[in-house]
Amino acid sequence: MPITPEPSSSRKKPFSLNLVQFCLGFSILLAALYNRPLWRIVSAEFSTDNFAGLLSFSAFCVFLVLIFSLCLTLVFFRYTAKPLALLLIISSASASYFMSNYGIVFDKSMIQNLLETDLAEAQELLNISMLGYFSYYAVVPSLVILWLPLNYHPPLKELKFKCISALAFISLAVLITAAFYQDFSSLFRNNREMRNTVVPSSFIYYTSRYLSGAYAVMNIVAQPIGEDAVQTTTNSSKPKLTILIIGETARAQNFSLNGYARETNPKLKQQQIFNFSNTFACGTTTALSLPCMFSLYNKSNFSTEKAEAQQNLLDVLSKAGVNVLWRDNNSGCKGVCERIETQPAQTYRNEQYCNQRECFDQVMLNDLDSYLSEKQGDVTVVLHQKGNHGPAYYLRYPDSFKQFTPVCTTNQLQQCQQQSIVNAYDNAILYTDHFLSTVIDYLKDRQDQYRGAMLYMSDHGESLGENNLYLHGLPYFIAPETQTKVPFILWLSQSFSDSDKLDRQCISAKQQQRMSHDNLFHSMLGLLSVQSSVYDQKLDMLASCRDL
Ligand SMILES: [Zn+2]
Repeated sequence: MPITPEPSSSRKKPFSLNLVQFCLGFSILLAALYNRPLWRIVSAEFSTDNFAGLLSFSAFCVFLVLIFSLCLTLVFFRYTAKPLALLLIISSASASYFMSNYGIVFDKSMIQNLLETDLAEAQELLNISMLGYFSYYAVVPSLVILWLPLNYHPPLKELKFKCISALAFISLAVLITAAFYQDFSSLFRNNREMRNTVVPSSFIYYTSRYLSGAYAVMNIVAQPIGEDAVQTTTNSSKPKLTILIIGETARAQNFSLNGYARETNPKLKQQQIFNFSNTFACGTTTALSLPCMFSLYNKSNFSTEKAEAQQNLLDVLSKAGVNVLWRDNNSGCKGVCERIETQPAQTYRNEQYCNQRECFDQVMLNDLDSYLSEKQGDVTVVLHQKGNHGPAYYLRYPDSFKQFTPVCTTNQLQQCQQQSIVNAYDNAILYTDHFLSTVIDYLKDRQDQYRGAMLYMSDHGESLGENNLYLHGLPYFIAPETQTKVPFILWLSQSFSDSDKLDRQCISAKQQQRMSHDNLFHSMLGLLSVQSSVYDQKLDMLASCRDL
């Protein structure tokens, strides 16, 4: 009797899994390998040294695996299962690497920051231990998946099988939730940030949201604001030269001007500056804070989508007739400088301030004179610093600023003593102190031609290992003050404060008042004597010190 061979797809191999078994197994792998921060939270909530805690902990493990399996069952089909599994492994390994090593959680601004990071910054994050981590958490599981034989039912039977399994997963998950309702609800209530630690769901959710948001924004033309902006004339014959410096990752706490025990502001303390020591950032990442600082929206109603759909401070200044220039030593202006003059870094590059990798912030002052010589009237120059960009703080300053030692010279912060991380960070602050003071000297040297002013504000702070947190980017409501409190410094030449009738004592008296990024927009309009319906005097921190 002839034997009809079975279709090869359904022929059982000695060891093989069907699709539902594969979903279950793969879910266990995802939960176990890539969710260390999540398990840290769950085990802290359910103390596993007693039976009840252990039971709740186990229930949560099973619950998570069921939910993963349910989702995977819906997308894993004959031709999608293995490619999707590989994609998930690689992205989960990357996500969990950053989360375990830097204590970050995923949210929209973190994804935005990662996707908008430039090549040089990305190289800085890559290192040998990351490769080791990758071979263990990405390469080995990928090889196993590639090797693993899967067997499939005929399409209709497969579909039926999937439906029954999905129903079983969901019913079991509901049962477990009902049985452990008290425990689970306190877990979720006490750890609201927990959902942002679940790999892969957190980064899938935020990446897709980011992508859909970014696509939407591409079609948007920024709505004009401040069409009525005009500069009121003063009796001075000298134009104003305002240099606005956007700091990077500098936290207020490490400025000796703000009471830090270590002398990190030896140069600024000798300048006649105003130091606003109680200033808060709009966000905890560059991608959020930078557009927010220049936006008419305040922290309370700001979103990057809204900000991109509207013109900003720089547009209003330039409509009023101020010459505005943006120079960048960081990874770009995040859309803020889109409609104003920018200069490519090559045009003012000077080897004196650069090495093969990058240039130090001082390069941004190079050859500024030739720009100024071409302009009539008031000028505002925005300098976007590299500042204290981490984790490689030790690369941010020339050797002569290596004053606090020993210094952490790896981007693997966990391998360093906390003090050596702080040392590297403080050396970078020391260099910013020098840079800002150099800008002030630059303005002083041109007092015959210009009424000079310098304003410096950092975009957000940083965690340097306190409570095991590194870098920045935590959601604002749980972010420590080290990430949200930023330095804010103003310097005004005598001729500037005289012509604008600014009472210097009155400004000094405001130095301890609470300030924020919200003040930048209106204070800059005030400094440049721009009148417009968008100007809000209440947010101009100098308004009450101006004698009109
Ligand atoms: Zn930043």
